[in-house]
Amino acid sequence: MSVTAIILTVTGAVIGMELFAWWAHKYVMHGWGWAWHRDHHEPHDNLLEKNDLFAVVFGSIVIAMFTIGHFVSEFLWWTALGITIYGLIYTLVHDGLVHQRYWRWVPKRGYAKRLVQAHKLHHATIGKQGGVSFGFVFARDPARLKAELKRQRETGAAVVRDSAGAPSG
Ligand SMILES: [Zn+2]
Ligand SMILES: [Zn+2]
Repeated sequence: MSVTAIILTVTGAVIGMELFAWWAHKYVMHGWGWAWHRDHHEPHDNLLEKNDLFAVVFGSIVIAMFTIGHFVSEFLWWTALGITIYGLIYTLVHDGLVHQRYWRWVPKRGYAKRLVQAHKLHHATIGKQGGVSFGFVFARDPARLKAELKRQRETGAAVVRDSAGAPSG
């Protein structure tokens, strides 16, 4: 593969993964996969969550892609690399910045702050119904997300925690 094709493949895989993650989070994790995702939405003191099993599944798939790609398809190998890069971005943003599993620093401004606010608002709903902000790298304006949560609360589409409407976020 040419360098251009490699760059396009890897970039495409990273962007594609954000779209896939949004879809899987909304329709699988908050759908039939809720049994694994649920403890990520409930308070606890455990180091690990059942939700981490999703990372094990996706990690296994990507290892298989690297292996098959190595023998059969360069395209598959570079796609697996793009997925791995997305996995690193995801864990730094979601586990690191938002849930503080690796460090305690919280961004105070800029897009990083917006990412944290948007995902905190994802955690503003109780149970699997409704909710906002299912992606991890592209985040909508938190003010719009709060308005959407308010609408969901009013229409009964979701059970929203009381703190979710607070201005601090
Ligand atoms: Zn969720
Ligand atoms: Zn989370």
